[in-house]
Amino acid sequence: MQDIKEFNLKELESEFLSLGIKAYHARQIFTWIYKKGVFDFSRMSDLSSKLKKLLDDKFKILDLKLIQSRKSKDGTKKFLFELADKNLIEAVIIPAQGRVTGCVSTQGGCKFSCKFCASGLLGFKRNLTCSEILGEILYLKSDIYGRNLTHIVFMGIGEPLDNYDNVLEAIRIINSKDGFNIGARRITISTCGITPAIKRLAEENLQIELSVSLHAANDKLRSNLMPVNKKYPLKELIKACKEYSLKTNRQVTFEHILIKGVNSSLKNAQDLVKLLEGFKLSKINIIPANYIKELHIEPADKTAMILFKDYLVKYGVHVTLRKERGEDIGAACGQLRLQHEKE
Ligand code: SF4
Repeated sequence: MQDIKEFNLKELESEFLSLGIKAYHARQIFTWIYKKGVFDFSRMSDLSSKLKKLLDDKFKILDLKLIQSRKSKDGTKKFLFELADKNLIEAVIIPAQGRVTGCVSTQGGCKFSCKFCASGLLGFKRNLTCSEILGEILYLKSDIYGRNLTHIVFMGIGEPLDNYDNVLEAIRIINSKDGFNIGARRITISTCGITPAIKRLAEENLQIELSVSLHAANDKLRSNLMPVNKKYPLKELIKACKEYSLKTNRQVTFEHILIKGVNSSLKNAQDLVKLLEGFKLSKINIIPANYIKELHIEPADKTAMILFKDYLVKYGVHVTLRKERGEDIGAACGQLRLQHEKE
């Protein structure tokens, strides 16, 4: 049975025609699924019983099984889903004043083995399909009663730019007026720094927000924390990010988690100032690291974080200090899946 979310509107219209279904029904189905969040053909009240039955025989809409969910005292809610082939993925809802952000996974596991991340610990399984990515969003949308999903971030398990085609296909439906209708500027791709894919993304004519996991501003330390840096070192990465900001006119965000005793000294801040010198459309987002027992990761203490931030501000770097959300529920990428696999 085919997942109907694999089709964009045009493709679904021609698929319907080939099945003897009038093309205009495709738009109706899109409205039910993406706008009204209905994932059961029998509840689509403007379709005939015959058509509902035909669609039910041919297509599925949502194929995620909820294994576990946890709600934080700050409102963040995390979900562990099982895919049809038993792979586990995570997604998170992050509510805030005036916005609700959905954070989704793009791969089953991850091959990049960043030293501070639980997602890579169980290895890489496979890329998620476009419909599986959209399925996560549909599920999140159905769980936020009375509120709208306003932002999507690709910051869950996996590296989105390593699953480029499926992620871009999903983004086009998220962004489309007939789909979730979420503006490109409210969609963020977070990458560990796949330089050629950043260059490709710059040519897509989409104003997607780009967020780069930096975490160190010299190649030695970054290669140690993020092995991907050996293949795509800082100089080329920053050059590709500058090109991205010029082409899209969007600010690039560099994420910098502060890990105790690893990358939180003033020398590290100094490296950062040097690296981003002259990069006007850039911002550093400082994030306290999550405790990850399995990886011996501890957040830097508050004083170190403030000193780090003040140093950057003093040298004219645009910087924000992000409050970690959902700490009490293991909301860091991959933690819930890891805990579940170990049980
Ligand atoms: S930070 Fe991202 S790229 Fe690195 S291991 Fe985790 S999921 Fe993979």
